[in-house]
Amino acid sequence: MTTPTVKLGKKGVDRWKASHPWIYASDLEAAPKELEGGEVVRVEDGRGWFLGQALYSKASQISLRWLAWDDTPVDRAFFKARLERADELRRSAYPGQTAYRVVHGEADLLPGLVVDRFGDWLSVQLLVKGTEARKELFADLLMEHFGPQGIKGIVNRSDANVRKLEGLEPEKGMLRGEAPKPFTYKEGDVELEVDLLTGQKTGAFLDQRENHVLAGRYGKGESLDCFSYVGGFALQLAKKAERVTAVEISGAACEQLAANAKRNGLSNVKVVEANAFDFLRDALDEGKKYDTVVLDPPSFAKNKAAREAAVRGYKEINLRAMQLLKPGGTLITASCTHHVDEARFEEMLDAAASDSKRRVQILEKRGAGQDHPVLLSLRETRYLKCYVLRVL
Ligand code: SAH
Repeated sequence: MTTPTVKLGKKGVDRWKASHPWIYASDLEAAPKELEGGEVVRVEDGRGWFLGQALYSKASQISLRWLAWDDTPVDRAFFKARLERADELRRSAYPGQTAYRVVHGEADLLPGLVVDRFGDWLSVQLLVKGTEARKELFADLLMEHFGPQGIKGIVNRSDANVRKLEGLEPEKGMLRGEAPKPFTYKEGDVELEVDLLTGQKTGAFLDQRENHVLAGRYGKGESLDCFSYVGGFALQLAKKAERVTAVEISGAACEQLAANAKRNGLSNVKVVEANAFDFLRDALDEGKKYDTVVLDPPSFAKNKAAREAAVRGYKEINLRAMQLLKPGGTLITASCTHHVDEARFEEMLDAAASDSKRRVQILEKRGAGQDHPVLLSLRETRYLKCYVLRVL
C-alpha cells in the first residue's frame, strides 16, 4: 500500500520551515477526500517537493501533526524508538522514581499521546485520531518496554473532551491487565494516594510534583491551599504550618485529601468542600489573614477566545489572595492555561498587586518538571506557570 500524499499551501510550507509541529486545515492546498483520518501521510509542497510525514486528522482544525522530516518507515520500530527516547529522559532525570510522565505528546514527538507511569500501572490518554487508531500498538509497545513483570496494567483515561474535536468520543477503561488498586507514591516526605480510574485526568497532577515539594519550604502559621485536589500542596504546607485550610469543590477529591492527611499523620489540615472563589470572598469579608496562600486552579480557557475571561478569573483570585496575606506573606500562584502565557500571567499579577495596594516581589518563576519537556517550536507545551511571590 502506498502512503497517501497531502500537499501544503504557502502558509503551510512557512509553518513547516518554522518547525511548527501542526498544520491547520486552511494551510492544505487540497483536502484529501479519500482519507478517513488517522493515516500517516506523505507531505509535499505545491511543486511536489517532499517535506516529511505526518498524522492526518479529518475532523480537526489541526489537519496534520508531524511525525518525521524524512522518509523513514513509520512502523512499529519507529514508534518503539520514540517511546524509548522519551523514557530515557525520565530515567536519567528521575532515577529510581516510580511516578512520572513517560510521554508528553508533541513535546516527545508523539503527537496526541500522553503516558503517565504510576509504579506498576500506566495511565494513557489517546487524544487524536492517529493515536486512537494505533492504541493496540502503543499498548503492546508499552508492555514490552516496561517488561511483563514491570507493568500490571494500562488504564485508558481518554475521557477528555478535547477528543470531540477529533470526532472521537471520550473513553475510559482498561487497555491491558487488571484494574489498579489505589496507588500511593511519595513527593518528598509526603505520601499521596490516588485512584487512576476515578481520579481527575490521568489520576494525579504530576506536573506540580516538584512545586509541591518546594511549597513545603513556605508552610507557615495559618496557610491556605485553594483548588487542592488530593492535597499535593496542602500536605507539604502542613508539615511546617500550624494549620492548613484546603479548599476543593469535588467531594471525591476532598475525601481522598482527608484520607491522605491521615495517612501522613497530619491532624492540622482542615478540608473545606467549597467553591474557592466564594471562599476567598467570604474570608476577606470575615477579616481572615494568612501567612501563606496557594492558588492552583484548573484551566480557565479551552480556546483563545476565552483568554480574557480567564485572565479576569485569575485576577479575581490573585487579588483576593494578596489582600488576605499578612505583610511578608507568601503567595504561590499557578496557571495551567496555555492560552494565558507567562507574559500575560505576569501582567495580570502586576494588575492584581496594584489593585490590592500591595508591593509584591517575585521570588521564583517555575514550570513543570523535566518529565513535561517544552518543545521550542510549540510554546503551548510550556503551559504551566508557577510563581512564588512575597507580598509586602
Ligand atoms: N492543586 C492540585 C491540582 C489542582 S487541579 C495539585 O497540585 O495536585 C484543580 C482542582 O480544582 C481540581 O481538583 C478541581 O476539582 C478543583 N476545582 C475546580 N473548580 C473549583 C472551584 N471553583 N473551587 C474549588 N476547587 C475547584
